[in-house]
Amino acid sequence: MSNFRFTSLNTAINRKPKEVTAPSGKISDYFGELTFNRVAMQEFLPKEIYKNLVNAIEKGDKVDRKIADLVAAALKNWAMGKGVTHYTHWFQPLTGSTAEKHDAFLSAIEDGRGIENFQGGNLIQQEPDASSFPSGGIRNTFEARGYTAWDPSSPAFIIDKTLCIPTIFIAYTGEALDYKTPLIKSLQALDKSASAVCQYFDKNITKVVATLGIEQEYFLVDEALFNARPDLFLTGRTLFGHASAKDQQLADQYFGSIPERVVSFMKDFEYEAHKLGIPIKTRHNEVAPNQFECAPIHEEANLAVDHNLLLMDIIDKTAAQHNFRALFHEKPYAGVNGSGKHNNWSLLTNTGINLLSPGRTPKSNFRFLAFLVCIIKALNNHTDLLRGSIASASNDYRLGSNEAPPAIISAFIGEQLTRILDEIEKDVKKENISADQAKELSIGIPKIPEILLDNTDRNRTSSFAFTGNKFEFRAVGSSANCSAAMIVLNTIVADQLAKFKKEVDELLVKNTNKDDAIYSIIKKYIKESKRIRFEGNSYSEEWLKEAEKRELSNIKSTPEAIKAYVLQSTIKLFENNSVLNERELKARYEIKLENYIKKVQIEARVIGDLAINHIIPIAIKYQNVLIESVRGLKELFDETTYKRCSHDQLKTILEITEHINEIKSNVDKMIEERKTANNMPNNEQKAKAYNEKVLPFFDIMRAHTDRLEFLIDDEIWPLPKYRELLFTR
Ligand code: ADP
Ligand code: MG
Repeated sequence: MSNFRFTSLNTAINRKPKEVTAPSGKISDYFGELTFNRVAMQEFLPKEIYKNLVNAIEKGDKVDRKIADLVAAALKNWAMGKGVTHYTHWFQPLTGSTAEKHDAFLSAIEDGRGIENFQGGNLIQQEPDASSFPSGGIRNTFEARGYTAWDPSSPAFIIDKTLCIPTIFIAYTGEALDYKTPLIKSLQALDKSASAVCQYFDKNITKVVATLGIEQEYFLVDEALFNARPDLFLTGRTLFGHASAKDQQLADQYFGSIPERVVSFMKDFEYEAHKLGIPIKTRHNEVAPNQFECAPIHEEANLAVDHNLLLMDIIDKTAAQHNFRALFHEKPYAGVNGSGKHNNWSLLTNTGINLLSPGRTPKSNFRFLAFLVCIIKALNNHTDLLRGSIASASNDYRLGSNEAPPAIISAFIGEQLTRILDEIEKDVKKENISADQAKELSIGIPKIPEILLDNTDRNRTSSFAFTGNKFEFRAVGSSANCSAAMIVLNTIVADQLAKFKKEVDELLVKNTNKDDAIYSIIKKYIKESKRIRFEGNSYSEEWLKEAEKRELSNIKSTPEAIKAYVLQSTIKLFENNSVLNERELKARYEIKLENYIKKVQIEARVIGDLAINHIIPIAIKYQNVLIESVRGLKELFDETTYKRCSHDQLKTILEITEHINEIKSNVDKMIEERKTANNMPNNEQKAKAYNEKVLPFFDIMRAHTDRLEFLIDDEIWPLPKYRELLFTR
């Protein structure tokens, strides 16, 4: 008999750390060498053109065609000097991953010799065959044209021998078919309204960008074990698996020393990332076994998203070179922590000021409070949309379970800020205190010259936490393109800031003093958005009850959560801020539904296959071993002894039979439910059926197979077990 786990798997696992390819020198020696960054631009572009291009990038202006031609020539020279032969437009279709189509620089043959060419036109625009990318009905297949267009604000980079040019992806008719287009538009909306509000405080502020630092969590699993688990292989998560006797109870992995084989993998992927200008800074073990995290230094949000997508790609490829597989799924293992992608978000001005950093002067503290309160108010008004923005079939398994924020959106701001906001709010009632006095009191001037925030005042359970100089949106899933969440966050804050300005201006027209006007709107907002602030443990039962009292929704499933995208209020919000129009929002909703249906459908199929082809045959095999053994006992012993000796085995035989029967009948029922779901007339109903009728079978099947795993001889169990997946290094 083949001894599956002890022989084949163990020989397949190559535990020896691979030699690190990263050089031992300084990071700065090679940082960014594979990107057409400002240094390369300066070297390869005429001075005037360089200035023009940088100016256009900073202002977000269109780059004119003449400049594009020169940039293309410089790019080609730079890239060919590094052995590059091909180029591609690199974009982010709504599949969730990135796409590329490579073309050779080669453009003409003269006298049998090839000529390399790459012009402004190739740089600015391409027309990939777009018919297979999701469009949510925007494009018909007969009019499948889609365009990619150069995003000069994200530098081109080299992967292998290909020059990659970050682009947006839009339909022939102009609608966005990607994440980048609305992200850029949301950043423009945010810039516009944030800069306008800044004008109250500082006339020098003319531009505001969102900064983003994305912490990426992931699991590593040995490739041989991964390949032996069809569920991991096909769905990215384990659909079955009995808990390991030890997993994360002792939290002994958190920040622990990183295993050698993993360190050499990390050094390699960080080297690749650094060459591409991705500023990876932090690496550590996470709480769960074989779970890790890395975080770059924050960058402008659009660039940060590009870099995160690129980073996931690099991690994936480098892991394979080290005989690992990286799991980006939000919940690869039941009962063990899931993975998130914390989005650290803030606002930075052209004058170099972080608007979410409390200042040293009364004026800057006042500005800080205005922004803080507007963000909280935006959150309060759009919790469901923000919840929708992080919804996916895979994140559903994570939210609200082990060590993950619940599906309730709330904001944590810390004890000190809470006190300050409470003081301001109370002053509203105390009419005898003038606004000026109240302001002095609350902002603590002159007694507390600065709002000195205590950085240790952290709450790791909140979905949206203020962490000293930025907000951390922790509910975003580890496999997500952060744009979805950032488009919503930028837009709701942009919208709120514009409303804030409007309300303040209305008071100014009535001759209210500017500070008083700002102060009174801040007060009003604090009051109106109080329910969204929660300082306690968001993982607790009490919070679920309290949130319900506060009428904060706790939307558990994706089909429910994404409905927020097509509400009239959402359409109005996005249209008013010129980020997405109704057609685009409806298309996105369709794509999200379709994606959900397919994900659950695939998992349901894999569960069926595994149960019928892997689990049941092995259960029967072991059952037969027991039956043989009982027969033997009967032959050997007298009736009384036989009864005594066979008692437990007979019980196990029965137990196995029951589990087999349950598994088989539930697979059949699940298939029936799938058929019914597939026949539903539209995706909304289909997604609902998959969620409510098909998904509940997953836990039932799992309970029976996990019990069988417990009963059956370890030697013949067909799947690598949790203890192996989680602890093999
Ligand atoms: P923690 O695990 O405690 O949340 P990390 O050091 O892992 O902290 O990650 C913090 C992230 O926040 C980093 O990516 C960092 O660059 C980012 N960050 C810091 N300041 C800002 C800011 N002003 N805007 C956006 N991101 C920021
Ligand atoms: Mg964090």
